[in-house]
Amino acid sequence: MITKLDYKINYQALNLGHSYYDYDIDDTFIHDYNPNFDEMRDVFIHIKIDLLKTETCAELFINLKGSYNVLCDRCLSFMKIDIDKNDYLIFKEGIGEDDETIIYISQGTEFIDLRPHIYDFIALSMPMRHVHNDESDCDQEMLNKLKEYLIEDY
Ligand SMILES: [Zn+2]
Repeated sequence: MITKLDYKINYQALNLGHSYYDYDIDDTFIHDYNPNFDEMRDVFIHIKIDLLKTETCAELFINLKGSYNVLCDRCLSFMKIDIDKNDYLIFKEGIGEDDETIIYISQGTEFIDLRPHIYDFIALSMPMRHVHNDESDCDQEMLNKLKEYLIEDY
């Protein structure tokens, strides 16, 4: 079982070079981190991280692979989304403006907590618009009900 502590990387103690991390992410991780985020369920994502530490930074090459269910925008029933994507993040010693891929850390930083970043990668992997590929894959009963109440806008 993975505990919160397992997501904390001891930056100071890391050897220069590559370190590898594997995590299996499920609903518990998501809801522990953000109880208000209920758009995903049945989350099963395997995360592989290849961390490269150099003198002044740690580069993370991240792969997310797995699936989760989200509500279809069209029929409001759950649909499965498969993901297999690569992300990149660098923790850099120094002062500057963080952006999507660069996080600045002070020289004496001891631990880096990966939880917020893993959460972001997963939350951001969700497509803006998610609908069943074909309307015929949608929950037809639900579609008919919705059509009675809503003005068709697709
Ligand atoms: Zn649908």
